[in-house]
Amino acid sequence: MLLSPSGHGPILSFDFPLSRSAALARLAAFLPHAGEAYARHRNEERGQGQHHAVSRLSAALRRRLISEAEVADAVLRMHGGLAAKFIGELYWRTYWKGWLEQHPSIWEDWRAACDRWVEQGLPEGYSAAVEGRTGIDAFDAWARELRETGYLHNWARMQFASIWIFTLRLPWELGAAFTFRHFVDADPASNTLSWRWVAGLHTSGKAYLADAERTRVQTDGRFDPRGLAVTADVPRETCKAELGRIRTPTAPDPHLPSLLLLTPEDLSLETEATLKALDVRRVVACRAHCSGAADLAAVADGLQRGSTHWGVRALWVDDMEAVLAVAQDEGVAQIVTGYAPVGPVADSLAAYREGARIAEHRRAWDVEAWPYCGKGYFALAQHIPALLGSAALESLPA
Ligand SMILES: Cc1cc2nc3c(=O)[nH]c(=O)nc-3n(C[C@H](O)[C@H](O)[C@H](O)COP(=O)(O)OP(=O)(O)OC[C@H]3O[C@@H](n4cnc5c(N)ncnc54)[C@H](O)[C@@H]3O)c2cc1C
Repeated sequence: MLLSPSGHGPILSFDFPLSRSAALARLAAFLPHAGEAYARHRNEERGQGQHHAVSRLSAALRRRLISEAEVADAVLRMHGGLAAKFIGELYWRTYWKGWLEQHPSIWEDWRAACDRWVEQGLPEGYSAAVEGRTGIDAFDAWARELRETGYLHNWARMQFASIWIFTLRLPWELGAAFTFRHFVDADPASNTLSWRWVAGLHTSGKAYLADAERTRVQTDGRFDPRGLAVTADVPRETCKAELGRIRTPTAPDPHLPSLLLLTPEDLSLETEATLKALDVRRVVACRAHCSGAADLAAVADGLQRGSTHWGVRALWVDDMEAVLAVAQDEGVAQIVTGYAPVGPVADSLAAYREGARIAEHRRAWDVEAWPYCGKGYFALAQHIPALLGSAALESLPA
């Protein structure tokens, strides 16, 4: 119940690209704003429908309708080193993905904690929080905006999570479940780990405390939140995570007849050089891998492009059993899919990896960056200029 999709009803008429062409158009429109203007204005929170200082590409990046590499390349070409702030934020996504790959038990523990809350009953104050009835004006407005649009500005996400944890004293796990259920860009790594970061559980001794005066300034006086906590009482840690190895999947064999399985983890595989000429016999997608209307719309777009690129029929099926049945009918030797990082799709594929010859394509972006993501963000950040081969970024202060 806690983690089931919200349905994302209003989102499809809203403002978040859910096809590759819409994502490319958004990137083109946002490019002029991704340099100095982004660095200066990205933290200004102007309210529902007014988030023009940020790209609103997250729903597309999360599903790789457009890739991080494409976005970084375009932004660097237009702005060079002046895009450092935007590139740095883009790499926060990479950092969280790579970190969770190396600490997968955090994902399992979070889901188990949510199940426990459902069993024991939700805490007092939970309903008022998710319905936006706490009396804290900014928090209530953000709860409504999230439910109506599926999006919150990054700065609002930080205040929302902080007020949830330190002022309302609600469990961070339930807050993460609420946003995961409603975000159009809901991502197992960025969502879970950002909540933990705000709570003070990611970087020891460092919690994020929302501040009333800063909220008045950043929202241009729209809000005047009262009664915010003035100390951050860091919650008790329930997840024990050891640094582990990044999973090495079976790589696709480019010479084998293949079934291409598209999931919301990677929806532009036809743009990857090593897969362009793959011997694809059929493109398939699984409804069980989609959490709501936003996923369904994005995957439908991916299926259409895949079908056109490889010149084969596309097919929706219900679940992985049906995927295996199609693979057998087509007589293919492998099921090729985009790498599934820690999250619901990886959980679904796990049971089938052994027998079904599932081959996962890993993008160079992840292969190169993830090894630097096991510790703090700044351990990754110092490698960004080299990862992007950008001398322009190197000349700027961190
Ligand atoms: C509590 C909390 C929960 C979050 N949950 C999610 C989530 O489920 N999915 C998600 O994609 N992001 C999440 N974020 C990160 C961030 O808020 C969003 O990526 C960002 O607001 C998306 O808007 P944008 O595309 O306009 O970002 P822009 O500012 O235009 O940034 C460009 C891209 O960089 C990446 N990015 C930017 N900031 C961050 C960040 N702090 N962390 C990770 N990636 C970032 C995103 O892919 C984004 O699309 C969360 C942040 C917090 C504080």
